[in-house]
Amino acid sequence: MSGYRGPQPGWDSAGPAGPAADVAAAAALLADARDVTLLAHVQPDADALGSVLALGIALRRRGATVRVSFADPDVMPESLRPLDVLGLFVPAAQVPAVPDVLVACDTASVGRLGGLADRVPAARATLLVDHHASNDGFGTHQVVDPSAEATVVLVHRILTALGTPIDEAIANCLYVGLVTDTVGFRTAGPGAHRLAATLLEAGVQVEPLIRPITDTHPFAWLGALADVLRDAVLDLCAAGGHGLVHTIVPAELIARFRFEEIDSVIDQIRCAAEAEVAAVLKQVGPRRWTVSLRAKGTVDVAAVAVALGGGGHRNAAGLTWDGEPGDLLDALRAALDAAAPTGLAGHRSISGPDR
Ligand code: AMP
Ligand code: MN
Ligand code: MN
Repeated sequence: MSGYRGPQPGWDSAGPAGPAADVAAAAALLADARDVTLLAHVQPDADALGSVLALGIALRRRGATVRVSFADPDVMPESLRPLDVLGLFVPAAQVPAVPDVLVACDTASVGRLGGLADRVPAARATLLVDHHASNDGFGTHQVVDPSAEATVVLVHRILTALGTPIDEAIANCLYVGLVTDTVGFRTAGPGAHRLAATLLEAGVQVEPLIRPITDTHPFAWLGALADVLRDAVLDLCAAGGHGLVHTIVPAELIARFRFEEIDSVIDQIRCAAEAEVAAVLKQVGPRRWTVSLRAKGTVDVAAVAVALGGGGHRNAAGLTWDGEPGDLLDALRAALDAAAPTGLAGHRSISGPDR
């Protein structure tokens, strides 16, 4: 294996020397690694899986033994399975108890590794690659940059430092993370757009790659989605008067449909013009809820999520809650009021049906 090429001018970070030095150290670690275990967060999304698979494919091609995993569920999300062209995924039970080099991607905290969190202290070296502002940091090596639109942006910096050619398989993995975490490039800066162009030049075919991941659901989902949307509640007084729209996805629907369907609900709910904040409460156990939060720029939902034990980004965050949904909504409203900017328009009155 040839050594890494050191920090490259190929990324757009105008940041201080810290991130570039971190990228160089990460590349040096991976350049010498013979056995690498790459972990995504529980219920992995396209950014998490795109990140671990892009790194995994690159390291496998350099000759390393590579496995990709996550604690929950036991299988790859169906829509993201085609990205794993080398068959790198293994179920969590097959992850070594004492990994050599461990890489955690898109993981805002150790807890987001779920049942695999114990591999972090066990590993000889652990590299964290993440872009969550709420990340408190863990591992012996860290590439954490909250200004990156997606973790795949940081993975691309590491691959550049490694001197890895970006072939079509790697480009596909990076592109899916980029397009989903930027909500279709809406939050992407110039660097992310330049990266997208590079990935297209490497062979990405956007429409056939993205449609199955973001725009494809079974017909039966349309009726179920209609029910979930009909049950949405608009609370204009919440979030200091900036408004909250929320709905519940019951366990029955979680059992019937894929995560691709369940996780798409928030993108419908957040369309409500009257609400600054949108929340979807997903019943993943009899008394366990995962919550997706979205905001439009006024309320910092990462702060709200952190206050309730979760994390995320300013405009997209999440948390897990054990208990009754009414108590969860009460806690959410209190945290939203605390996080909402004060002295603005004041409370709006509720008019019309407040379902
Ligand atoms: P989601 O609504 O699941 O798409 O998550 C939105 C953002 O919040 C993503 O960046 C997640 O990684 C993050 N997030 C979701 N749940 C948690 C959690 N329990 N702890 C920390 N971050 C989370
Ligand atoms: Mn993620
Ligand atoms: Mn991400």
